[in-house]
Parts: sequence; C-alpha cells; structure tokens
Amino acid sequence: MCLCNKTRAASLVRRNKAHYLDDSQTVIQLNYTPKGLGKYGRGLKQDVFEFFTQERQNICVVCGSQELLTKHHVVPYCFLKYFPVKYKEHIDYDILPVCATCHDQYELVATLLKESLRKQHVPPSSLSDRVAEGRAYCAAISLANHSRYMPADRIQELKSRIAHVYGDKSLEDIITNHRPESRWCVKSQDWKYVVEAMGNPGDISKYWRQHFLDVMKPRFLPRLWSAEGPLCDISCIQNNEHNHEIRSFN
Ligand SMILES: [Zn+2]
Repeated sequence: MCLCNKTRAASLVRRNKAHYLDDSQTVIQLNYTPKGLGKYGRGLKQDVFEFFTQERQNICVVCGSQELLTKHHVVPYCFLKYFPVKYKEHIDYDILPVCATCHDQYELVATLLKESLRKQHVPPSSLSDRVAEGRAYCAAISLANHSRYMPADRIQELKSRIAHVYGDKSLEDIITNHRPESRWCVKSQDWKYVVEAMGNPGDISKYWRQHFLDVMKPRFLPRLWSAEGPLCDISCIQNNEHNHEIRSFN
C-alpha cells in the first residue's frame, strides 16, 4: 500500500492498529480498513507505482548530503495553486529532499525565472492598476495625517489621485476598509495569469522539472524520476487490486 519509516510502523503495531508480517519486522498489515488506499489502491501505471513504492534515501538529490534537508517543491506552489484538482493527484512526485545549501542556490535562479515569467505574462494594466491603488492609499494616509502642513495645490493633487481610484469615499473609509492587499497577495494573483498563459499543467510541470535538472544537475535522484512523468493527472491511473500492506524502511 505504501512505504513508511520504522518508527511509524512500530507506533502502529504498539497501538494495535497493525501487525508484523515477517520476522525482520519490515512489513506490517493494518488491522483496519483505511479511508484511502494509498498509492497501491489507486491503480497506478506500473512505472508510476514502482516509483512511489520504491525505497528512497533521505539525502539531498543534488549533492547527496544528509544535513539540513528541506522539501523542495519542483513545481512551485504558486503555480500548483492554479492547477485543476486532478493535476494535484501526484503532487508528492514533485517534492524532493534537497539540502538547504542546494535549495538556496536553486531558488536564486528560480526566482529570476519566475520574475521573468511574471513580466512576460501579467497584463500591464493589472500591474498599473495596483500601482495606482497603492499610491492613492498612501495619498489618503498623507492627507489624513499631514494636510495642515501642505500647500493647497499639493492637497488638490492628492485628492484627485484618491478620487481617481476611490471615487467620493471618505478618507476614514478608505484607510479603514480599503487597504490594498499586501505585496505578496497581489503578486500571488499574478501566477494565475502566468499559469493560464503557459498552457497545459502537465507541460508546466515538465517545464519546471527540466529547469531543476538543467540548473542543478542532481546526481542522486530517485530511480524513475524524470521530467517526463507522471503528468499528475488521472490519466496515469488504471483499475487495479489493492491490499493493506505497508512496507516499512528505516
Ligand atoms: Zn545538496
């Protein structure tokens, strides 16, 4: 059904939720029917099933280090967020152990690529709208706090900037109820444009996998991991039998 570490397997046995099937205590069988059937019950194609049920080492896939490991999302979460649900079926295929040093190195390059994609695909009107909104909100705060020190023409300039975005709303209403979304939130919307412009989620997954391979040249990837597959959709699922075995490794 799935792989887990020895600690978890022992914990299940100790709580009488499973029992060992062999003397070496590497295989357990659950004593109950789980809600989900794990990778085994999903009827995956053979190579996909083999990938998910093979024993994997807990080392950085790039340099082999065992220190300061992080979970690296090969397809960035800001992209995944806008994939249809069916494309998130095998999201763990694209989560690989990478040490903090390699992760930082890759993120420097990935961040530049993301910025480039953002500039390429986000409509300029969307960017200019949010700039105008931010400037109008700042103008409202300036007027509310410092208008008594401002010359009349400066006050008029700020008022027209505010009216252009907020109409005839009061300064108090704007400051209290219309604060622009944080920079991060506004940016997160950008990835929707980028994902839509780049097309098929399967192709986007391949794009990021290949980018990770090209930039980091990982030498310790799990067997059967490649840019090509699986495409994280229901097309790689077939009908198959299932059982409730769990193989435990250290
Ligand atoms: Zn590393």
